[in-house]
Amino acid sequence: MYCPFCGHEETKVNDSRLAAEGRQIRRRRECLACGERFTTFETAELVMPLVVKSHGSREPFDEQKLRSGLIKALQKRPVEQDRIEAAISRITHRLRSLGEREVPSRQVGEFVMNELRHLDEVAYVRFASVYRSFQDVDAFRDEVDKLKVRRRREPLEGQLSLLSAEDAAGKDAAGKDAAGKDAIGKTKGGKRD
Ligand SMILES: [Zn+2]
Repeated sequence: MYCPFCGHEETKVNDSRLAAEGRQIRRRRECLACGERFTTFETAELVMPLVVKSHGSREPFDEQKLRSGLIKALQKRPVEQDRIEAAISRITHRLRSLGEREVPSRQVGEFVMNELRHLDEVAYVRFASVYRSFQDVDAFRDEVDKLKVRRRREPLEGQLSLLSAEDAAGKDAAGKDAAGKDAIGKTKGGKRD
């Protein structure tokens, strides 16, 4: 791959080893142009089931989202990155092994809790304590998203109701008719001048 720092086409591999219990290959690379070093991970790409959220919507499984969820729960905890990656690997492996096209998000959450329980008790409690409301938050966020989409489709109706009471009252009180006629008159006058 190209160097992520300078874009140079040639990088050399300094070290290559198995990671995440053999489900990944980790390569240390060095750019031949700028000399920066970076790491790449290689994993098999296999089809993952769709995740069904609590209120029925479906979304593709997102490994990055899973990773950030784990990292957040493990914030400032003494757990090595390699162990987190191994946990992610096991979770995705288990999900895939279910052999289902769709899995409930609750199932993903349970796999995550199971891994956290082994990794770090504090992180486990953190995650478990927000887990129930987390599902509600998810549902809430989806509702907000739906609202945004609806508003984009019907910008006028949706946005008028969002104006502050003062703005709305001001426009109504000033009288659209009177103000409108004045404005038109002024414009016409302006053009004539
Ligand atoms: Zn470079």
